Amino acid sequence: MAKTVQKRRSAVGQALVDEGVITPEQLQRALRVQSLLEEPKRLGEVLIELGYATRQAVTEAITKHGVGIRLGDMLVEQGIITLEALDMALAIQRGRGVRLGEALIQLGAINKHTLIHCIAHQAGVPFIEPTLSMIDPNLLRGVSPSYLTKHQFVPFSKNEEGRVTVVVSDLNNNDTRQAVDEMYQGNAIRALGPEEAICSSIEDFQRFREKAEDKSAPDVQFAEDPVVALVKYLFSQAIEQRASDIHIEPMTDKIRVRYRIDGVLVHKTDLPLDLLPKIISRIKILADCNISEHQKHQGGRLLFAYGEKEIDMRLSIYVTVYGESAVLRVLNKELALVSLDELGMSASMMERYRTDVLDLSTGVVLITGPTGSGKTTTMYSSIDYCNDLSRKIITAEDPVEFTIEGITQCSIFDKVGRSFEMSLREMVRQDPDIIVMGEIRDKTTAQVAIQAALTGHKVFSTFHTEDTIGGLLRLIDMEIETFLISSTVISIVAQRLLRRICQKCSAPYMPSAKEIQAVGLDIAEVRQYEYYRGRGCNHCAHTGYRGRVAAYELLVLDEEVKEAILQKKTAHEIRKISVETTGLVSMREDGVAKVVKGLTTFEEVLNRTPRTFDMHPLRQIASNTTAPQRATGDKK
Ligand SMILES: [Zn+2]
Repeated sequence: MAKTVQKRRSAVGQALVDEGVITPEQLQRALRVQSLLEEPKRLGEVLIELGYATRQAVTEAITKHGVGIRLGDMLVEQGIITLEALDMALAIQRGRGVRLGEALIQLGAINKHTLIHCIAHQAGVPFIEPTLSMIDPNLLRGVSPSYLTKHQFVPFSKNEEGRVTVVVSDLNNNDTRQAVDEMYQGNAIRALGPEEAICSSIEDFQRFREKAEDKSAPDVQFAEDPVVALVKYLFSQAIEQRASDIHIEPMTDKIRVRYRIDGVLVHKTDLPLDLLPKIISRIKILADCNISEHQKHQGGRLLFAYGEKEIDMRLSIYVTVYGESAVLRVLNKELALVSLDELGMSASMMERYRTDVLDLSTGVVLITGPTGSGKTTTMYSSIDYCNDLSRKIITAEDPVEFTIEGITQCSIFDKVGRSFEMSLREMVRQDPDIIVMGEIRDKTTAQVAIQAALTGHKVFSTFHTEDTIGGLLRLIDMEIETFLISSTVISIVAQRLLRRICQKCSAPYMPSAKEIQAVGLDIAEVRQYEYYRGRGCNHCAHTGYRGRVAAYELLVLDEEVKEAILQKKTAHEIRKISVETTGLVSMREDGVAKVVKGLTTFEEVLNRTPRTFDMHPLRQIASNTTAPQRATGDKK
C-alpha cells in the first residue's frame, strides 16, 4: 500500500511547493511520514497534521493546480474518494481495461455528475450542463440534429471574435474532435458536459425542428434573445431545485454558476466568460439597476415570473477583479406553518416539550441556534400550539415572517419610531397571556423578558448561542441576577438543520472508522447498525440530499440545574448535571439518532452540530423511539 501511495505522490506535493505553501524539505519529510503510516492517509492530511500547511492552503493549491494533477490524486486529496477506493479502482482499471472514472463509478465511489466536474477541472475546461434553452439558437441554424448525435457535441455560444464554445461529452474522443474542428475550422473552444444533458438537448432540438416543419403546428420559434432565455433558465432552475441563493461569479477563464440548496453551495454549471457583460446587463435591467455603471457595487430587487407565481428576488452586484459578480437571494421561501409533530423531535423529547414547557402558563422559553438553523419554524409551531381563544398572544418581530390567525403580530419599524424597545414596553399593556419577542439582543431585552415572566406571563424568544447551556451562561454574562434566571427560565431549545438523505437515490453504506471516531462513537457498536447515504441523482441536484431535518437539544430546567445556575457553575458542570438529572440529549446525539433512522448522515452531523464529549452509547441513542418525521426545509 505504502508503495502505491509513494508512486502517486508527486503532483499534489509539487503543487504545494510551487504555491510556496511548503518547502521541498517539508515535502520530503511528509512523504517519509506518509510511507511509514500503517493506515494510508492523504498527503494533504499528513501535511496538515505535521503543521506544515493549513487545510485551506491545501484546498486552494489543489483547486488552482487542478490541471496537471492526476484525476485519482485530485479526487483523493479533495476527499471525494478514499485511498482504498482509488486502489481498488486502479486494480479494476488494469484488470478490465476500463477508464479510472468508469471503475470508480462501478465501485459506487463517485457519481457520474461529480466525476465530470472533476475531469473538467483537471483538464482546465469549463463544465457546462447544456439544455436547449441555454443554447444560442443562431448556432443551430442549418445544423442537423443527427450529425450532433453522431459526434456527441452541441454548440453553445459565440463570442465577440466569432469563436464558438461547444460542449462535448468526452474530451479524448477523436471523432468528436474532428467533427468539431471541421465545423468550426479548428477555432472552437471546448467545454465538458454530461452525456445525458448533451443528448437530451439534441433530442429537444430534433423535436423542435419537427414541429417547425409541420406547417399545421403553431409557429414555434426561439422568440427570445439567447441571453434573456439563458437568465430565465438559470432562475427557473434555481427555483425548481429549491435554491435560496444564485451565485453568478466571473473567474479567470469562465463564469461559475452555483446554487445554495439546503444551506450548501452546489455547482450548477460554468458558462463562457464572454457572456458575462450580457448576463449582468440582463439581470440589471430586470432589477432596475444602472446598466452603464460597472465600477460601483449595486443592489436591487426584481420579480421573476415562474409559472403562475411571481418570485421576489434581491440582487447584489459586487465589482470583482474579474468583473461584476451577481448574487440573487430568492425570497419566495414561503414559510409554512409546521405542526409540532412535524418538527422532527423524538417522541420522548416532544412529550417533554409539550407537558413540561408549552403547557405551563408562565416562564421564559428560549430557542437558540445560529442564523438559518430553523429557530423561527420551531417558534411559530410552538406559538401555534398555544394559540386558542382563551389566550391573548402578542408579538414584536423583526420582521413578521409568517402570520398566524388569531394572534396580535407586530413588525418593528425603526424609521417610523416603532422600535423594538418601544414595542416591548407597549405590548405588556395589551393584557397578553403570551408574549413573543423576536430576539433577545441585549441586557435590556433580556430584562423585559424576565420581568414579563415574573408578572405571570409566558414568554417566547430566540437567542444566538451555540447550545442550551450556552444560552444560560449568556444570560449570566449579561449580568442578569442568577436567582432571576433560575426562577423564570423554564426551558432552552437549541437546534441545527441537517441535510436529509434524498429518498430517490438513498443506498446502504458503511461509514469509515475515521468518521465514527470523529463523531465520538464506538466502532464495533456502530457497525451493528445499517446506514444510508444518497448517491446523487437529478432529484437532489446530484448532492445526495434533499430537504432538511432538525437536530434538537432540549433543556428543561429542574431543581438541580437551577441550583447549579445559582452557584454559577461552569458550562461543563451544568451540562453534566443536566445530562444526569434531566436526561439531556445533545444535538450531536439527536443527530446520530437520525443517522440510525436513515434520515441523514454522519457527515452532516459532524459538520453541523457542536461536539459532545462523553457521548452516550449508540444503543441508548438509537433506542429513543421517535415520532414520524417530516422535512422542515422541503415545503412546497
Ligand atoms: Zn437523489
